[in-house]
Amino acid sequence: MAQNRFQTHHGMKDILPGESEKWRYVEDIIKKTAREFHFSEIRTPVLEQTELIARGVGQLTDIVSKEMFTFERGEDNYVLRPECTAPVARAFVEHHLDQRGGVQKLFYIGPMFRAERPQKGRQRQFHQFGAELIGSSDPIADVEIIRFMMRIYEKIGLKNITLQLNSVGNPESRNNYREALQNYFRPHLNELSEVSQARFETNPMRILDSKEDEDQKWVADAPLITDYLSEECQSHYAEVKRLLNELGIPYTENPLLVRGLDYYTRTAFELTSTDLGSQDALGGGGRYDLLIEEVGGKPTPAVGFASGIERLMIACESLDIPLGENDFPDVYIITRGDKARNWAVKAIDQIRNTGISATMDYSGRSIKAQMKDANRQEATYAVIVGDSELETGLFTFRNMKESEEELLPFEKILQKLIHA
Ligand code: AMP
Repeated sequence: MAQNRFQTHHGMKDILPGESEKWRYVEDIIKKTAREFHFSEIRTPVLEQTELIARGVGQLTDIVSKEMFTFERGEDNYVLRPECTAPVARAFVEHHLDQRGGVQKLFYIGPMFRAERPQKGRQRQFHQFGAELIGSSDPIADVEIIRFMMRIYEKIGLKNITLQLNSVGNPESRNNYREALQNYFRPHLNELSEVSQARFETNPMRILDSKEDEDQKWVADAPLITDYLSEECQSHYAEVKRLLNELGIPYTENPLLVRGLDYYTRTAFELTSTDLGSQDALGGGGRYDLLIEEVGGKPTPAVGFASGIERLMIACESLDIPLGENDFPDVYIITRGDKARNWAVKAIDQIRNTGISATMDYSGRSIKAQMKDANRQEATYAVIVGDSELETGLFTFRNMKESEEELLPFEKILQKLIHA
C-alpha cells in the first residue's frame, strides 16, 4: 500500500538549495548594514505568551483577532510570534536593557507566523528583518530607523520603491481625530462595508485602510489626521520630514496611512514596491511610545521597522536583480581506488583549512561518473588521484572551465588554489 506523502502546511515553504544562497546573501547584507549603523542582534524565542501579543499588538487588530497560531500546554498559552516588536519590547523589559544605559539599538531576522489566507507574497510562515531603537523620542531616531531600512534596499539594488510617511499623533490627537472620523462617517454608516461598520466604534481609523469600493468613496473626503495633530506632534513630524529632506531620502506623504498595528504613535511609514502586485508592502514601521509601558516597563519611547524577506525576494525576481553567486565548489577531488580515497579524506581537510570549498565522491563511483558529477556541480577545479599519482606524488590538476590539465605536487596545487 502506498505510504502517505507528507507535505509542508499550506502557506509554509521549504527554502531549498538554489534559493537558500539568495537568502544568505540578503541576510549578510542586513547584518553588514546593521554593523554600519551599530545595531546589535537580538534573537527571541518563536513562542511567546499569547497575552503579550494580545496586549502588545492590540486585541482589535487583525493579527490578534484572526491570525494567531496558539496552543495550550498545561497552564500556559503559547503563540507562534506573528511579529517581533512586542517580543523585543518584552525582552527589553524582562532583561532591564534600559540599565545598560543610552538607547538600545536592536535588529532581528527570523520567521513569523500568521494564519492568513495564503497568496503570492502572503504566507503563514514568513520571514522578517527589522530593527528597534528604544529609549529616544527624538525625530533623529525615527530617521535613523528609516535610513537603516532604506539602506538595505539600496544595497540590494531595489528600484521602484516608495516611502510613504504619515504621523498618527499621540493618544490625545488620535482621540480628537477618532471623534471627527466618527462624526464624519456616522451619517453614512449604513452605506459602509460590513467590516468598516464593525470598525466604526472600535477602531474607525482602520476604515481608512479599506479597499472596498463602497468605503473608498467616503474615505476620499474623510477628515485627515494631519489636521488633528497636537503642536508637539506637528513639530515632531515636521522635523522628521526636514531630516529626510536633508538626507535626500524621497518620501510621499500619505495621511491615510494608519497601519494595522495598534501601538503606533506619531511617525508611521510604509515602503511599497510597484513590482509586488496586490501585496505591495515591502515593510513598514513607526514610533511606538506606549508599547514598553503596555508590556510592563517604564514609559519608554521607541521606534522601529519590520520588512518581509519573501516580498523582497519577489521584487528582486521581477526586476531580475541577482542575489549573490551560486555556491559552486572550488575543487572536486576525483579518486580511483581505496588508497586514493583515503588520501583524499585528508587532503580535502587541508584544502578547506585555507578557506577554499571542496567536495568529493562519497559512494565509490567510476572516474567517469565522478567527472560528470564535478561538471554537474560546476566545480572550478578537479584534482584527480589514483595509485600511480600517489606513487609519483604528482596529481592531475584540472581547470574545469578551460578544460586544461597539468601534473603538479599537492603543495603546488594548494598554492595555486590559494592564489586563484
Ligand atoms: P507588519 O508587521 O504587518 O507591518 O508587516 C511588515 C512586513 O512584513 C510587510 O510589509 C510584509 O513585507 C511582511 N509580511 C507581513 N505579513 C506577511 C505575510 N503573511 N507573508 C509574507 N510577508 C508578510
